[in-house]
Amino acid sequence: MMADPVTIVVKWSGKEYTVSDLSQENTVGELKEAIKSQTGVLPERQKLLGLKYKGKSPDDDVALSALKLKPNTKIMMMGTREETIQAIMEPPKDIGEVVDDFDIEEEEVLIENREENLQKIARRVKDYEIKILNPPRPGKKLLVLDVDYTLFDHRSCAETGVELMRPYLHEFLTAAYEDYDIVIWSATSMKWIEAKMKELGVTGNPNYKLTFILDSAAMITVFTQKYGVVETKPLGVVWGKFEEYSSKTTIMFDDIRRNFLMNPQNGLRIRPFREAHLNRQHDKELLKLSKYLKNIASLDDFSHLNHKHWEKYRPESSS
Ligand code: MG
Repeated sequence: MMADPVTIVVKWSGKEYTVSDLSQENTVGELKEAIKSQTGVLPERQKLLGLKYKGKSPDDDVALSALKLKPNTKIMMMGTREETIQAIMEPPKDIGEVVDDFDIEEEEVLIENREENLQKIARRVKDYEIKILNPPRPGKKLLVLDVDYTLFDHRSCAETGVELMRPYLHEFLTAAYEDYDIVIWSATSMKWIEAKMKELGVTGNPNYKLTFILDSAAMITVFTQKYGVVETKPLGVVWGKFEEYSSKTTIMFDDIRRNFLMNPQNGLRIRPFREAHLNRQHDKELLKLSKYLKNIASLDDFSHLNHKHWEKYRPESSS
């Protein structure tokens, strides 16, 4: 019998690569090699989303025939070239751009309670060191903010970081600081975050202060049935380290929903701020969100809020 050809389209970093020189008898490992020759991403760095064997991600020795692929199957890859990994001072390859911000709701409850994930959080609580910039203030709520596309457009080019700053950033932080301690959490390196915060005039601002900053090392990876391994920002790390903060009074803004996987109730997905040069005049997201933060600040407990509907929130409709 002739070996049936296999054609797989791999989406990575916003581009599509067609792998067409394989047959059904080739293995997943050989597919990864073929992907490497086109993308430069080493097999061990590749996370292929959309390939499944017996309900999970296939091992390298599984034959492609066992995956029952349709012709021109499209899969997604997460992964980074080795040289990119070394360039820590570069802006991140935001995997949120590669993978759609998938809806994982039905799985969320399971993921946030899974023992292995809780253990990973416990390890971060124990081993991740937080440098306190300003001590927690008694009675304040906690606001945790992503950087890229939330406060800042890290992809556009500009002479200075300030040109890429989301409009009303300082007004927003000044207003939030009245009721919330402010924490920055970005999936990049501490060096990069600190440099950006300085450049934007957040560090040393006379009107508000940051309590601390978290970087990628405080994140954990979790396995999801549908999409494989993804990185998340578990607030349990913060709650485990500080008795001042709890799940009841913490809110987190991020443009990528999967970052909330370990604490979906606390996440507010902010519209991403991109193309700063076009949107600098129009983007009022932070202005509107600062009203929302003000409106909910007097509540003792945020647990009953649905941050998905933040725009429709009215103080009197709560209670
Ligand atoms: Mg972001």
